[in-house]
Amino acid sequence: MSISENIEKIKSEIPSQVKLVVVTKTHPAEKVLEAYNAGDKIFGENRVQELVSKHEQLPKDIEWHLIGHLQTNKVKMIAAFISLIHSVDSTKLLKEINKCAEKENRVIDCLLQIYIAKEETKFGLSFEEAEEILQSEELKQMKNIHVIGLMGMATLTDNEQQIRSEFKSLNDFFLKLQTLNFKLQTLSMGMSSDYKIAIEEGSNLIRVGSLIFGERQNK
Ligand SMILES: *Cc1c(COP(=O)(O)O)cnc(C)c1O
Repeated sequence: MSISENIEKIKSEIPSQVKLVVVTKTHPAEKVLEAYNAGDKIFGENRVQELVSKHEQLPKDIEWHLIGHLQTNKVKMIAAFISLIHSVDSTKLLKEINKCAEKENRVIDCLLQIYIAKEETKFGLSFEEAEEILQSEELKQMKNIHVIGLMGMATLTDNEQQIRSEFKSLNDFFLKLQTLNFKLQTLSMGMSSDYKIAIEEGSNLIRVGSLIFGERQNK
């Protein structure tokens, strides 16, 4: 199936409150343009350099999301145009985003990335650390940042029960924060292999790449 058919198929199967981030990492701008011409405007990249280069080459009404780890020294490269940063995992990074956003006269939307997988390699905050950041006076002082939700990645495994319980734990935490009056609306969970489970467990933003563009070459 073509890129646009793949996108159509996914969109027809997900509930209307769930938004799709089309993950374009490793795919050239022409391919991204094919998705764009099919009507999609929300694209996700995991590396800053590649994101900046595609932003330069492609139409300016695209909403770019950064979904991969962000180093503080690279925030300034994306501060002028980024729509949502999914991967905020420290106060130091929040401060830098706030500073760069202020220079650009913008408010940048962010998600706190939470560690839910049983893997050593994933980035992210614990529930306790995330709650501490949300409660902090420091965050209240950051006028150019808007924390609008949470992001998490489940363990790469065939064990559906494990994936489900990891997503459920993040949704439980998300709901708990809402009862504590934090104004969080976005829960980013689920990729090609597990987005259906993620939606069943409360996700309202899924990040899908290989199911749309085909398998990536390892990079
Ligand atoms: C690559 C990536 C995705 C998309 O993965 P697919 O398996 O290709 O759908 C989603 N989220 C993050 C953080 C990624 O790096």
